Amino acid sequence: MASVTIRDVRKAYGSAQVLHGIDIDVVDGEFVTLVGPSGCGKSTLLRMIAGLEEISSGDIEIGGQRVNELAPKDRDIAMVFQNYALYPHMTVAQNMGYSMKLRRASKEETAKAVQEAARILALEPLLERFPKQLSGGQRQRVAMGRAIVRDPKVFLFDEPLSNLDAKLRVQMRAEIKELHQRLKTTIIYVTHDQVEAMTMADRIVVMHDGKVEQIGRPLDLYDHPANLFVAGFIGSPAMNFIQGTVNNGQFQTAEGSTLPLPQSAKVTEGTLITYGIRPEHFRIDPAGQPVRVQVVEPMGSETQLVAKLGTLDLTCLFRERVDPKPGETITLTVDREQVRLFDRVTGMAI
Ligand code: ADP
Ligand code: MG
Repeated sequence: MASVTIRDVRKAYGSAQVLHGIDIDVVDGEFVTLVGPSGCGKSTLLRMIAGLEEISSGDIEIGGQRVNELAPKDRDIAMVFQNYALYPHMTVAQNMGYSMKLRRASKEETAKAVQEAARILALEPLLERFPKQLSGGQRQRVAMGRAIVRDPKVFLFDEPLSNLDAKLRVQMRAEIKELHQRLKTTIIYVTHDQVEAMTMADRIVVMHDGKVEQIGRPLDLYDHPANLFVAGFIGSPAMNFIQGTVNNGQFQTAEGSTLPLPQSAKVTEGTLITYGIRPEHFRIDPAGQPVRVQVVEPMGSETQLVAKLGTLDLTCLFRERVDPKPGETITLTVDREQVRLFDRVTGMAI
């Protein structure tokens, strides 16, 4: 096990700057996810940690040792990719034991390590099969088994579940999390899926356009996003954003609708702000603002509505059963202490 320190790391491909100074401290044994939209630089950063990509400037340390110039094989890491990259002509057992063969470990030692990984991942009945005789989920498990057999200081995962169907993805998500709880090895896990990032990680690094937007525990990011980007990226359905100003101690939209501000909000009259409210923080209240229901999506455990406040679309989520009809007008208020305010110009949380 080892910590991973990333210090002012930059990457340019020719004149194209893709990482603009990344600082991350991954604690020994921690599960950290790097999350952000496609193209924001997650894979590039992970590949730099693995040693598969040169570092333009900055430092990367693994277990306190600077590894900038260290070859991938000497970094004591194991990487699992989206496209498993199994050897087609080798059995599951041979695929899993290959790193030990390269290391010239004895047959007995290799068999023992493969057995142990196969037991952890429930792969024992499949050890003599070839990759083409496996389902997507089983192949993914073999790729993980191969990483476990290496017994690395750090696991690096790059979107390992993207090729699986939704149900299997949820199952594998739980398996990887459980695996981490058992092995307690440091994991850096890349995904573009914020649900995956939220559910698996001890801490999340939100990336955007080659920069870190915020680092924190999943629920801290959800409750206290540092800026509009994080607020909009974390959470599904996404936070509603409404533009307006502060008027008479209330929030007022351009069309004149009013919504309450948090009691403690430090905003002066006339300030231009973006008002952020999560879908689950609306309540039906006779004293609220009238909104016109557009779409009703009953999901059983909850009901999602799209409703218009003036010309603005709001997404609302109710845990209790509500049954309005499209076209109907209902009155909504918000849980004011859950409202998040952002500076209209900088996008930073107020
Ligand atoms: P992510 O994994 O977050 O989707 P990547 O790290 O793959 O993003 O890519 C980040 C940016 O770097 C993208 O704009 C991509 O086009 C660019 N990029 C990645 N690899 C190369 C390369 N070998 N040459 C030039 N540009 C690259
Ligand atoms: Mg990628």
